Amino acid sequence: MVRSLAPWAADPGRSRGRVHGEPGPEGRDDFQRDRDRIVHCGAFRRLEYKTQVFVNHEGDLFRTRLTHSIEVAQIARSIARRLRLNEDLTEAISLAHDLGHTPFGHAGQDALNRCMQPHGGFEHNLQSLRVVDALEHRYGAFDGLNLCFETREGVLKHCSPANATALGDVGRRFLDRTRPSLEAQLANVADEIAYVNHDVDDGLRSGLLTVPQLLSVDLFARHHRAVVHAHPHAGERRQVAETIRSMINTLVLDLVGASEALISAAAPASIDDVRIAPPLIAFSPAVEAEKRALKQFLFENLYRHYRVVRMTSKAARIVTELFDAFAADPRLLPTEHRRLADRDRFRAIADYIAGMTDRYAIREHRRLFAVDES
Ligand code: MG
Repeated sequence: MVRSLAPWAADPGRSRGRVHGEPGPEGRDDFQRDRDRIVHCGAFRRLEYKTQVFVNHEGDLFRTRLTHSIEVAQIARSIARRLRLNEDLTEAISLAHDLGHTPFGHAGQDALNRCMQPHGGFEHNLQSLRVVDALEHRYGAFDGLNLCFETREGVLKHCSPANATALGDVGRRFLDRTRPSLEAQLANVADEIAYVNHDVDDGLRSGLLTVPQLLSVDLFARHHRAVVHAHPHAGERRQVAETIRSMINTLVLDLVGASEALISAAAPASIDDVRIAPPLIAFSPAVEAEKRALKQFLFENLYRHYRVVRMTSKAARIVTELFDAFAADPRLLPTEHRRLADRDRFRAIADYIAGMTDRYAIREHRRLFAVDES
């Protein structure tokens, strides 16, 4: 059954368009074209070797930013379909949302931001937009992927007022405090659903978290109890997988129900009404509180686990030392990046480092600092 788009969904036929005019796509619409451009770009492929919590070489079983982005897209699409939002736009935003991430997750981003403080700072959301607007060089007529306004505004999840001013159109909502499309709001929440669940999974698999520890978290405990009751002899691994599966399902169903209620109360007639309404994609207050408690647990017990902290402090040092070395002597940069550095030294260095995968950054650091490497 083909369900029609809701009146408040983003409509590719009414897109606010692309920066560079192009003939319309054939056999697909503009949001489908954006999704396809994202999947084919180099930054998307590099997500395979970038991580969020665990460094890429630590194990093949942990999520990378690529598998994370695919999980976000899957969760977001299934919710979009139920809310009659535009699935293709939702998917495009989900797949692109982490393109600007540095190597080594938040540790890398924080380190790069510290290095860039005197030179305009570094924000990963802004960098994701920079990747799709400027850094991909694949088209003859323009830099970047020349995506639709709706895709670009979804990629730019957060932005400082100073940067928002410089961005013009796509930054305006951060100044006038309006909202993006529901597709963008949804991709944002789906990101959260994906990572809290897969971090529990990866945390348990790595041995940094334990089931008894997680039983102090209501959302986990409630679902785990039901799973153990239904499958008492399934073994811990399967019980954990079933628990995560049902936590995701609970979060998805709650988000659909609560968002439907918010949308029907606000009764937007179009995407323009969505922009001036309060956020309309949200969990019920009870589930929001449970999800927040799980996030807090992960923050205290996984992201601050000494083994994660040891790794992130090494990662921060690698990023900082790379930055300092290139800043002190841009001749160390590969030719293409050196040319860009002639125009804007620090931004070119930040772009180069942000584009690195975990393993490339480690190798590049070794090449620069180990005398027996070249
Ligand atoms: Mg993400």
